[in-house]
Amino acid sequence: MMTSKMKLQDQKRIVVKIGSATLVDAKTGRLRAAWLQTLADDIAMLRSRGREVLIVSSGAIALGRRKTNLPAHGKLRLEESQAAAAIGQIALGEAYADALHKVDLTAGQILLTLGDTEERRRYLNARATLSTLLQLGSVPIVNENDTVATSEIKYGDNDRLAARVATMISADCLILLSDIDGLYTAPPANNPDARHIPLIEHITPEIEAMAGSTGSEFAKGGMTTKIAAGKIAVNAGTSMIIANGGVYNPLKSIMDGAKCSWFVANSNPITQRRRWINGHLEPHGCLTLDDGAVRALHSGKSLLPAGVMSLEGNFAKGDAVILRAPNGEEIARGLIGYDHFEAEKIKGCRSNQITEILGYDGRPELIHRDDMVLRDTEPAEHSEHAAQ
Ligand code: GLU
Repeated sequence: MMTSKMKLQDQKRIVVKIGSATLVDAKTGRLRAAWLQTLADDIAMLRSRGREVLIVSSGAIALGRRKTNLPAHGKLRLEESQAAAAIGQIALGEAYADALHKVDLTAGQILLTLGDTEERRRYLNARATLSTLLQLGSVPIVNENDTVATSEIKYGDNDRLAARVATMISADCLILLSDIDGLYTAPPANNPDARHIPLIEHITPEIEAMAGSTGSEFAKGGMTTKIAAGKIAVNAGTSMIIANGGVYNPLKSIMDGAKCSWFVANSNPITQRRRWINGHLEPHGCLTLDDGAVRALHSGKSLLPAGVMSLEGNFAKGDAVILRAPNGEEIARGLIGYDHFEAEKIKGCRSNQITEILGYDGRPELIHRDDMVLRDTEPAEHSEHAAQ
């Protein structure tokens, strides 16, 4: 039933994430140019059917390190990988531009840093550029701007970057082309009994537990970041596919029924603004609530200062924070209406005491319900309240 709906040919706007292990030959460190041409052929075929395609591609560091004296394998120092990315990104962009040019398509390169999706104004700006590229008939090629991103300000892996891009432009489907053809009950390389899972309707704790490591040297992500990407995507109404990218014509193969795993999009997706809040990779603080506040949130209410037991983090007004239940479980994310000094002063207090404590008029709620998203797939019975 559900599977019959899950067809790539039915998806209008598609983001394809290509990992280094798929694009770069592990033995020679060279770009798999013939493979890339078949991907470009697939993109042209989808475009001729009225589909829009965006690419999120890794490979800058893997390509760049081979063009210098840097060691071909193993971990690089931060400044070495930044230099490798600076060199490799030119080759990467050129390779896509050439392959797409051969099928009469134009590539447009976008390099993002974490702040481009975490700060609302920059997020809207990046979204506008991507939409314009699509309107112009171009194929956006996105990567992290590794040359300037240090570990604190990094997406770190292109799986979550791709999910962030896909939800930012309301894609129907995100395809993670990987060196594995989907999710298994255990890492298949060392578990002969591992079972392939073709359809994931909900990302449950059991599904998360199945995510092992892909064990590929080039791949940054592994299965854990793919599941994290899946959570960002499906909550925002974007379905996700994990498929084997190693084969020629990888997108056509999926259309022809190649083995893969589909993560079904939440049929009740959250709004664009809440999507942005929910996908935040770097929340600035954390609030622990009492049981009453947790119940209130689940019935669609705003968070009042009275329900906060403790808080941590140097957040400013408007920053994204995590909300936890007394047992430490994350239950929601939201944009806080007070900075951490103010929040510390008014936590545990009644809203009508706020003016007296702070010395000025403030809003009665710490986080308004419109600025908050309950974690995971909000079950239908909850989302109805939350929408009130
Ligand atoms: N952005 C990195 C690169 O292009 C790769 C990150 C990843 O593979 O997740 O080399």
